[in-house]
Amino acid sequence: MWRTSTCLRSNAPKRAVNRSSRALFTKGLGSSPPNVRACLSHPKCAHSTSTLSRWVSGAAALRPQSNPEGSSAARDLPVSRIDDRKVVIGWDTHTWTRYHHIWLRDHCRCSQCFHPVTKQRLVNTFEIPPEIKPVNVESKTDGLEVTWPSSQPHTSFYPWSWLQENSYDPPMHQTPPTEKILWGSKIQQSPPTVTFEEAMLEDDRGVFKWLSNIDKFGFSFITDVPPTPEATEELSRRIGFIRETQYGTFWDFTSDLAKGDTAYTTLALGAHTDTTYFTDPCGLQLFHLLSHTDGTGGATLLVDGFYVASILKELHPRAYELLSTVPVPAHAAGEPSALYTPSMGGSPVLKHEGGQLVQVRWNNDDRSVMRNLEPGLVEEWYDAIRLWQKFLTSSDSEYWVQLSPGTSVVVDNHRVLHGRSAFSGKRRMCGAYIGVDEYRSRLAVLAERFAPDAVVRDTTPYASVNGRSVWNPAL
Ligand SMILES: [Zn+2]
Repeated sequence: MWRTSTCLRSNAPKRAVNRSSRALFTKGLGSSPPNVRACLSHPKCAHSTSTLSRWVSGAAALRPQSNPEGSSAARDLPVSRIDDRKVVIGWDTHTWTRYHHIWLRDHCRCSQCFHPVTKQRLVNTFEIPPEIKPVNVESKTDGLEVTWPSSQPHTSFYPWSWLQENSYDPPMHQTPPTEKILWGSKIQQSPPTVTFEEAMLEDDRGVFKWLSNIDKFGFSFITDVPPTPEATEELSRRIGFIRETQYGTFWDFTSDLAKGDTAYTTLALGAHTDTTYFTDPCGLQLFHLLSHTDGTGGATLLVDGFYVASILKELHPRAYELLSTVPVPAHAAGEPSALYTPSMGGSPVLKHEGGQLVQVRWNNDDRSVMRNLEPGLVEEWYDAIRLWQKFLTSSDSEYWVQLSPGTSVVVDNHRVLHGRSAFSGKRRMCGAYIGVDEYRSRLAVLAERFAPDAVVRDTTPYASVNGRSVWNPAL
């Protein structure tokens, strides 16, 4: 039944724990057989069955075999026991996490409980008895095996790395979000850049580099782009669907006021984010100057909103708090056929999730009447935005660059503000918006492929169907 010759794996999660204390701690656990597991869904296993049936229930696929090599692996296993309402796992002498029985049963990833292709829950959560309690738990090499009471006994398996990543009682050592690199004007010495050739590489490695730049810095240049709308649109679509707005799908415009917005003039534009008047402002914006004739000016301005926010927070915490809490209404009303305002009366300039700054939304030109401000806060709020504007426009924050045809730029419109100086002559710009969800999805798929996290790495060999592990922490 087991194809052990080609698919043996034995990879207990690596933890920075003192080995001798662990060995002491796990004494008495030696009854667990040392485990080597056959990987049933590995393509090299030469199974003739279909993908679905090959992806047998987690319990069956992961049943341990005795290891003729000896039992050294078993001594490193976390300990596990059943409490009244929770399963308790001891990772080392002082690190314990707990998982409620109902939570574990609900998160079973066997093929009866979770569809391995669609990655959707199959188990009927509401048929799980509220008082459910395992009849047995057992620490295996790669994870925890849990046997549930039932007329048809059910066994679940949870990889150690997945249990760590999803621990909540208490949370432990979860993968931090990608590091953001905050920047000021000195970014001009080496701005994040990819070439058009890289971005168009068929294996998508260049797109990963490009989107990783945006993830870290909030923007990226793309050099050597053919100065045509066609090539620029093709480049935009390498990331994802273009988001259609009142300005069109892929836009290509000059300073002719074809649309009722100052972008369509020769006026200077201060640092701002776009579409503050949407409930869900556009995620990425790509633009490309195709030509500039008979004039001068029109330098591009980029400012890292997260950097400016960090300075404001440090020096003026009260102003930061006001910008983080007072909703700012906005509108787009220059086109007779459209009148956009965000739901709920707008959002604060600085939006947080779980205490982390996640979005900057700032366009003072598009701000509507501040009618929801408490009277006692009016002057204080104006003081706060005055400070914000001061740091936004300081020479330490502003990155000015004179773009020329052939160099496109993509900005994360939830983080980096953009603007331009006034210009004379005729400029032709083209570009597109891409939704934040399309961008994040594309980046997640490429990260899964080119930079998988520990859980994906550990579990992909035995638990992936269509290239995606059922244990991917996003699921
Ligand atoms: Zn199950």
